[in-house]
Amino acid sequence: MIKIYLFLITFFVLLTNLVAQTNERHCPLNINESNYKDLIQSKGNTVTSRSGTKYIPVVFHIVYRTDEQNVSEAQIQSQLDALNNDFNKKNENREIIRNDDLAIEANLDIHFYLAETDESGRPTNGITRTKTDIRNIGDYYEDGDVKIKHDFLGGKDAWNPNRFLNVWVCETELLGFSSFPGANAFDEMGVVVNYASFGTIATDYKYDGYNGGHVLTHELGHFLGLLHIWGFEEECFYDDNIDDTPNQSIAYLECPFGTPSTCGSIDMTYNFMDYTPDNCIAMFTKGQKEVMLNTLEFYYPSLPTEQPDSVTPNDNFNILNQVTVYPTLVDNNLFVKGINDFEYQLIDTKGVVLKTENAHSNIIDLANLSSGVYYLVLKVEQTRKVTKFVKL
Ligand SMILES: [Zn+2]
Repeated sequence: MIKIYLFLITFFVLLTNLVAQTNERHCPLNINESNYKDLIQSKGNTVTSRSGTKYIPVVFHIVYRTDEQNVSEAQIQSQLDALNNDFNKKNENREIIRNDDLAIEANLDIHFYLAETDESGRPTNGITRTKTDIRNIGDYYEDGDVKIKHDFLGGKDAWNPNRFLNVWVCETELLGFSSFPGANAFDEMGVVVNYASFGTIATDYKYDGYNGGHVLTHELGHFLGLLHIWGFEEECFYDDNIDDTPNQSIAYLECPFGTPSTCGSIDMTYNFMDYTPDNCIAMFTKGQKEVMLNTLEFYYPSLPTEQPDSVTPNDNFNILNQVTVYPTLVDNNLFVKGINDFEYQLIDTKGVVLKTENAHSNIIDLANLSSGVYYLVLKVEQTRKVTKFVKL
């Protein structure tokens, strides 16, 4: 088995493709079909030795040209929350999944967390910030090197990809793009996301429909070995070679009506690996999960997946899902049903934290707040719940 993988790695290293999701809906992919098929089939026979919940440390490299691009910690946290929801079947838009597909919906059981120590072992918040003068730095190369991923090209060097999942957040004409297993230089392994389609709490998103935090989920699908759901080309002849994703011949650029079909079966338009807008993508399949976990096992064997002391288990980190915050249009009081001892933050639409307080009641008095749109972030231990509301 190892020989097969060495062969595949060698093959992929020869390629320089990046897998991308663009605001123009063009996503180039140059992987050879027969080799990819071998990859999928051989991986399908393997069993991951790292069972149970996996905890992956993430470093976010914020490379900004303007203040707006220098996204806030609250925005970063909202992205991390969305990611953890998506990878644990906790995303709120799961209701769009048809009953027939619930049986094959996968819980990846992966928990991403902000790195707590840097490469030298020093404490860190898992965020780097780098000022650049280069417009759309995410789109440029120098002698084949991706500028955003290198200090000397005006970007930011990766932290050791054997130990961290690197995510660069920057200005780019794409929504995001990812390295593909074995296909990119070691120091360029990781995901790039447009600051304007990153996180869930800004209201000034450049790209309507991509503010649900799922762009990073889609790109991590590529990072973990997934193709788009239609496979290599948008034709029925091509497939992603994963058994439980239906064959599909087109990319959906808008939320579809009804149950569209292009290759004799109902298209899974809400799969995270389609192009559908954020509110209309909601799941990975069990077949995709198998590929992703095996990719983790064989391509990123050194990436830590152990639970760090400070991170609570998956089972607990979403206890706030049981909590309801209402109303959406607030006169004076916001009510928090299901809990009455928690910390909360009040955040404006720019991501600025206006207030942090410990509450011992389920009523939050907002009488003095000026009119506008805000976010309430509830915190219990490592758990967070973000709710948007309008103060009248
Ligand atoms: Zn893509």
